[in-house]
Amino acid sequence: MEVKIIPCLNDNYSYLIFDKNKKNACVIDPSESKPIIEIIEKNKINLRYILNTHHHYDHVGGNKELKKRYNSKIIGFKDDKDRIPEIDILVENNQIWREENFEAKIYHIPGHTSGHIAFHFFKEKKIFTGDTLFSLGCGRIFEGTYEQMFNSLKKIKELPKDTEIYCGHEYTLQNLKFCIANDPRNIKLNKKNVEIKKKLKNNLPTIPSILRDELECNIFLKAKDVKSFSKLRDLKDNF
Ligand code: ZN
Ligand code: FE
Repeated sequence: MEVKIIPCLNDNYSYLIFDKNKKNACVIDPSESKPIIEIIEKNKINLRYILNTHHHYDHVGGNKELKKRYNSKIIGFKDDKDRIPEIDILVENNQIWREENFEAKIYHIPGHTSGHIAFHFFKEKKIFTGDTLFSLGCGRIFEGTYEQMFNSLKKIKELPKDTEIYCGHEYTLQNLKFCIANDPRNIKLNKKNVEIKKKLKNNLPTIPSILRDELECNIFLKAKDVKSFSKLRDLKDNF
């Protein structure tokens, strides 16, 4: 399964994933339609499905236009059916969503929003985490509790260590600074620092990240309990 990273808006990432023949595709979190349409037209792809991790405008902004143009089906969490524009297929926690060659397990991971989900393409070891887990960071807690967010991250932590993480934003540099400030002696993190700076210098996305690296470097994943996690989350909000 090939993934194409599509920068959108200021710092969002949408992702196109293709089946084996590169004919059919899904888009994850289309922030806006234009950059996605450009790629679809150029490569003559059928955009079959639109997968939304949560209802924020920078993740669903392209839903309406793309659906109208390509007759795609929109997939989102059942409890968010009233706030995900044009939703067609409702999914729930731990369900396996399967269509054509696409197969993903749905994880309900509340905290950033109450209806946030992740799409885990377990056969390909790729997970789309929206605004819950970022590279070296995690999402702000808007609708949930610290405990919910902590437990949501825990679900992701338990996946195979070579899982690729595809998140909703290029926030890695700012997250990196926060991790270094709070974990300055982490050798792995300092190594990751060099890799990230190199990618950014060459105008490349820092995504995907590998879960193994996140477990060693992402200070939010290293937090032992809800209390220390909450403290970090507060510190980061004012960093
Ligand atoms: Zn969001
Ligand atoms: Fe976002």
